[in-house]
Amino acid sequence: MQKFVRFEKDGQAFYGLLKEHDICVLEGDIFTEYTETELTYKLQDVKLLTPCEPSKAVCVGLNYRSHAIEMGMTLPEEPILFLKPSTSVIAANENIIYWPGISRLDYEAELAVVIGKKAHNVPEKEALDYVLGYTAGNDVTARDLQKKDGQWTRAKGFNSFLPLGPAIVTDVDPSNLSVQAFLNGELKQNSNTADLIFPVPYLVSYISRIMTLLPGDVILTGTPEGVGPMQPGDRIEIRIEHIGSLINKVKRP
Ligand code: MG
Repeated sequence: MQKFVRFEKDGQAFYGLLKEHDICVLEGDIFTEYTETELTYKLQDVKLLTPCEPSKAVCVGLNYRSHAIEMGMTLPEEPILFLKPSTSVIAANENIIYWPGISRLDYEAELAVVIGKKAHNVPEKEALDYVLGYTAGNDVTARDLQKKDGQWTRAKGFNSFLPLGPAIVTDVDPSNLSVQAFLNGELKQNSNTADLIFPVPYLVSYISRIMTLLPGDVILTGTPEGVGPMQPGDRIEIRIEHIGSLINKVKRP
């Protein structure tokens, strides 16, 4: 199991390997070839960046039975897909912006799959070979606009509406991970990826038959029951077993 981070130090971006509270600086690219250098930094002394820079985030709606039921929707026969723009991505500890014109802003705790190599028409049984690792994601949603528009591009596409991080963790079994959301420290979502209607290998294969997935692209696998609103000043934590905690605060612009 390795934990890759991206971070900024003295105005430059680096990839690193997270080891406890130290980051070993890497030379090269985690998606192709890299080597460990002698250089290390303390985690507390750097600014974390998004762990990858996706060209697109492919998201799955209603992928937990419990959430589909809470939204009053019937269970999907095929994955319901939508995209979030690359410009919606923010790093751990950056602020989720409560933009004007929104009256209900929800958190959605999700396991995020990070693609490791170009994937097109990938069979399900080989799908995990195309995955570099996993991180935590928050599919922030303007619920009022989602209902008003009838489709989800605006409601889920604002800048800052896709917190990702803090690290990409490799060699994790995605079929049995607890997924939790804590709002101001209070447990709000508490489920497990074992309850996914469409599991990770199925999703990678299914999506790759529609669009080519590129290294660094992410798949947001859907959120379980317990979604709810956030207010300016709130602190939202998405915690995924073996992967870590993604913490962001909600602010007015
Ligand atoms: Mg979602």
